[in-house]
Amino acid sequence: MVIVKIGVLALQGAFREHKKMLESCGAEAIEVRTTDDVNSVDGLIIPGGESTTIGKMMVDWGLLDTIKDRASHGMPIYGTCAGMILLAKDIVGSEQPRLGLMDICVRRNAFGRQVESFEADLHVAEFGTEPVRAVFIRAPYIESAGREVKVLAVVDEHIVIARQGNYLATAFHPELTQDDRIHKFFIGMVQESLGK
Ligand code: GLN
Repeated sequence: MVIVKIGVLALQGAFREHKKMLESCGAEAIEVRTTDDVNSVDGLIIPGGESTTIGKMMVDWGLLDTIKDRASHGMPIYGTCAGMILLAKDIVGSEQPRLGLMDICVRRNAFGRQVESFEADLHVAEFGTEPVRAVFIRAPYIESAGREVKVLAVVDEHIVIARQGNYLATAFHPELTQDDRIHKFFIGMVQESLGK
């Protein structure tokens, strides 16, 4: 495998777990906090956490425009949970800062306040017959998606995995399980973007 360098935005949230999983998949992984970090990686993961906090810090630390610029030149980005919210063009009832790169409308804390967290087995055609065990924590879902967006999995008819070109989003936290297929899929997207 060609080794790619993937950054994990490390402002707040579950970034350490993503880094570990990327490394166990054979990728080089770094924590990203500066524009130089953003410019040094082949792909970027935006972790789960608190999307309003991460978004505000991205603005304060001058990262938002640099990430958008790299994205417009084809850098793959994968957002999990809060990361998915930050990738979305539209967030129901919120004006919070975001990258706005994916043509999706997301609803925050969408599975109901009483359901703080739950797990589900997802059927994802791309990953064969073995279901993906997904951990949802105050999770959002994708309420609607544009025509360019490919839906990869749903829960109760709500979209929870989607891809649009160089962007991938999951409403749940694969880094908290032993299942590394989504990280491997993203590493494949990064290799593809480099023509490797
Ligand atoms: N509910 C959080 C938000 O809106 C996301 C939760 C998570 O990332 N686990 O930012």
